[in-house]
Amino acid sequence: MPDVAVDLLSDTLTRPTPAMRAAMAGADVGDDVFGEDPTVRALEERVAGLLGHEAALFTPTGSMANQLGLRLHVAPGQELVADQQAHVVRAELGAAAVFSGITSRTWPSVRGLLDPAGPMSLVTTGVGPYQVETALVVVENTHNFGGGTVQPLAAIREVRAATRERGVAMHLDGARLWNAHVASGVPLADYGAEFDTVSVCLSKGLGAPVGSVLVGSAEAMASARVWRKRYGGGMRQVGILAAAGLHALDHHVERLADDHARARRFAQACADAAPGVIDPEGVETNIVVLDVGAAGLGSAAFVEGMASHGVRTYAVGPAAVRLVWHLDVDDAGTDTAVAAAREVLASA
Ligand SMILES: *Cc1c(COP(=O)(O)O)cnc(C)c1O
Repeated sequence: MPDVAVDLLSDTLTRPTPAMRAAMAGADVGDDVFGEDPTVRALEERVAGLLGHEAALFTPTGSMANQLGLRLHVAPGQELVADQQAHVVRAELGAAAVFSGITSRTWPSVRGLLDPAGPMSLVTTGVGPYQVETALVVVENTHNFGGGTVQPLAAIREVRAATRERGVAMHLDGARLWNAHVASGVPLADYGAEFDTVSVCLSKGLGAPVGSVLVGSAEAMASARVWRKRYGGGMRQVGILAAAGLHALDHHVERLADDHARARRFAQACADAAPGVIDPEGVETNIVVLDVGAAGLGSAAFVEGMASHGVRTYAVGPAAVRLVWHLDVDDAGTDTAVAAAREVLASA
């Protein structure tokens, strides 16, 4: 098997560019547990401002940012509701239950797309001691396992209006909110305005080696800061990492459009080669989820076939394969992936 020439496993694979490494090396630092790292403070202020919130908190991972956000809104024994494929319920290893005593219920979705009827069919409030009280609705934008789906602002606003009436909070898992913003043209602050807390990742398509940010009210972030330390997430001279995030915000946001165009081109080629494996119109951002079953293949066979051409992909179900475009995959890499997929799909 050849080495991996084109790695479409995830956009977490990006390595810091030379310019990003230079920005990191030159960062001004201090002890962030004492609030004395000027670069971390600059990053927090910048991201809070972009999302239209009062305050922000730098965290090592997106999972920690999400989990801090969830616990701010949901008391032990209360519930959150999210869609069936949401990262917070599928890929954070039960953290909301383990750390915060939160139970979860989920609504079904197609491609992770938010239909307000989903959450509102579950939200349960004012039921006294008889049923579990819903305290939080979680929305993911873009939707990872759904295939990079961009959530329509109108649907988000509808859920917000309904939850506000019921006294239920809203958290946005915005690991790839940058992609949603670039694909839709909706300002980040317009998304931010509909949520009590938002988490964003710097380590996905933006290309930073590590780091996420949680935003919310000043009061909420003060509480999240205490819990971050309690979780062992109090970090010291991490301006060196925040500098990577600031560099990414300056240089790697607009270029996400290139990733989106390459993902769409790949999807179109697959649809041409094997109609039914993907609707290219549904590929709005950097993630492609192929239904290789429609070409008569299992996901393991497809992943193996692609690997024999040096292209790494990820089986997310028995017949579903995910491919993610990012900073380290260019047009030539996309050509390689297209040629490989044509051959593998035709082999079925
Ligand atoms: C990657 C990701 C996260 C955070 O993951 P970490 O690996 O903990 O940084 C959260 N939500 C979604 C949708 C993600 O894709």
